[in-house]
Amino acid sequence: MERATNGQVTAATSSPWRWLSQVRWIFDTSELGLLGRADAILQVESTNLREGSRTLLEAKHRLHQEGIGNATAPRDVGGGGYRWVVQLLIQFLVGYRDLNMRDAAHLGHAELLLLDDNWITREELHQAVAGELIGVAATEPSGGSNLATASTTIAVPTPSGWELTGEKKWISRIEEAGAFVIFARVHDDIAAFYVRSTNDGLARASLVPSGLTGWSWGCLVLNSARVRTSDMIGDVAAGVSLFRRHFARYRPLVAATCLGAAAASIDQWVDFVLSRSDGGRVLMGGALEKIGQCRSRIILAISGLVAGAVQTADPDPIWAKMAKAHSVEVALETVRSAARSMGAQSYEAEHPVRRTLRNLEAFEYADGAIDPLFRSSGYAYVRQTADERV
Ligand SMILES: Cc1cc2nc3c(=O)[nH]c(=O)nc-3n(C[C@H](O)[C@H](O)[C@H](O)COP(=O)(O)OP(=O)(O)OC[C@H]3O[C@@H](n4cnc5c(N)ncnc54)[C@H](O)[C@@H]3O)c2cc1C
Repeated sequence: MERATNGQVTAATSSPWRWLSQVRWIFDTSELGLLGRADAILQVESTNLREGSRTLLEAKHRLHQEGIGNATAPRDVGGGGYRWVVQLLIQFLVGYRDLNMRDAAHLGHAELLLLDDNWITREELHQAVAGELIGVAATEPSGGSNLATASTTIAVPTPSGWELTGEKKWISRIEEAGAFVIFARVHDDIAAFYVRSTNDGLARASLVPSGLTGWSWGCLVLNSARVRTSDMIGDVAAGVSLFRRHFARYRPLVAATCLGAAAASIDQWVDFVLSRSDGGRVLMGGALEKIGQCRSRIILAISGLVAGAVQTADPDPIWAKMAKAHSVEVALETVRSAARSMGAQSYEAEHPVRRTLRNLEAFEYADGAIDPLFRSSGYAYVRQTADERV
């Protein structure tokens, strides 16, 4: 906090690092150096995005060129080989600077290719490490919470590979992705296919989202899209397990991104409170208690994420579901508190706190809807307890 010459309290210096002091000790000097560099670049990129001088895809390419977007990818595919837990903090920094950059600073869904050893040497993976964006298409118009029951998109064998027909809905980055990992039914199984976005059998149609408007979003229609035998990831029955393993790593990253965005909103709220408390006027309406409560919730949530990620790069899928659902709830509730406490000014459509609130609402559905995620966690715990009693 600073005092100007007229005695008025001015804005606090915003920095994501003021939220991370309890977890800093986990990172070594080289990791902290990388994180510092990442934050400096993210700050510049978020300003460029706001001013419209750069697109999200350009920001992603820059972050990959600088060794941030591929920092935690394995060295043998051209990545930096940093620990997975480092990516959690990169995502917190991303969220703090601009939630729309959520998939600009990591491999994102290209990590699905890493789960099949046959893809390690392939050009497609190396392009993704260099910054090409890969989308994922699992959700179908009839619902996305249970991939195992998806039945709209079908793959049939051809002499040279597979032909995919069907529809995928609510897919992120449909225009920007260079390729998609598309999940399709093959008889009783679900298989995963790598499909270039230029495939003749693939049509894209945009939908208008409520938030997260930085990237495009919409439907993919597959009309006899042909792919090669070698474009299958894993075997014909591997789709559901690839999806689960991938999202066990992906969901905690979403969680950290949302918490970073919430932390930025609380800092904007603190700036607002300071601007209203000129000349040492007493703060109104329990503002300090509310700010303290929000700060505690965010700090303890990010500490829990880091504790769960520090020992493993292959987390338990149920833990990952809880991590995502809980963090999104904490982020939404704390940002709602900030918005309500800032009065009418936070209702302007382009106010950063309002924008964050709109963007966070997308995560009640994206990457797994909150209720089904909590339901899985409840089911697993009750099941385990019942089994232990037998
Ligand atoms: C911004 C955004 C980005 C997204 N990006 C992608 C993407 O890139 N790729 C992708 O594949 N998908 C994407 N999605 C889709 C997302 O993954 C799905 O929304 C999510 O998996 C949940 O599926 P659903 O919305 O179809 O919900 P559903 O599975 O339809 O469930 C919706 C609700 O209905 C309830 N429900 C379901 N069945 C029943 C029942 N029988 N009785 C009572 N209640 C029931 C559930 O508990 C849940 O609360 C995105 C979504 C959003 C909003």
